[in-house]
Amino acid sequence: MLPRTGIGIDTHAFAAETDDAGSRVPLWLAGLLWEGERGLSGHSDGDAVAHAAADALFSAAGVGDLGSHFGTDRPEWKGASGVSLLAEAARIVRAAGFDIGNIAVQFVGNRPKFSPRRLEAEAALSQAAGAPVSVSATTFDGLGFTGRGEGITAVATALVVQTGQPAVVPATGAADGHATGAADGHATGPADGHATAQGDNLEP
Ligand SMILES: [Zn+2]
Repeated sequence: MLPRTGIGIDTHAFAAETDDAGSRVPLWLAGLLWEGERGLSGHSDGDAVAHAAADALFSAAGVGDLGSHFGTDRPEWKGASGVSLLAEAARIVRAAGFDIGNIAVQFVGNRPKFSPRRLEAEAALSQAAGAPVSVSATTFDGLGFTGRGEGITAVATALVVQTGQPAVVPATGAADGHATGAADGHATGPADGHATAQGDNLEP
């Protein structure tokens, strides 16, 4: 059986300094808490690196995407951490009969300064996925929204190999998360970095 590759991309805008309740929004990125850094907006923790990694796994296995697995039909995942979403994505992909080879993620953003914590981030994400996750970082030389410091984009690839038959049928189908609705984190609120896309399928 030949391996299969997948791709995932995720973007979040930096949040206001404080949320509606006046609390400082923490930055969660690549499975780590970044003290003193401005947080990302979204109904989840905004961890674009973890979200892109999870989406790449689904893509590689051909079992849907973040919206279909963590959308309206699974409201219990609303607000979940990026690493917990990645761990659940890995569980779903394995249950569908795949072994995970590796995941590679690159994020684009001016901040945070990533290299000092790269190994720590890779360890956290690898533990969540149960497979090697590598993370690299770059900037867009001042261009575009990442260059202006308005947000972060992450793109990921994953490699999987089918080694068995699905143990369970993946939870896709009619309510595949594109159906919008308030429980889909993308459909609500201008502060959700996804609201301007299709309003749908990027992530919870
Ligand atoms: Zn996301």
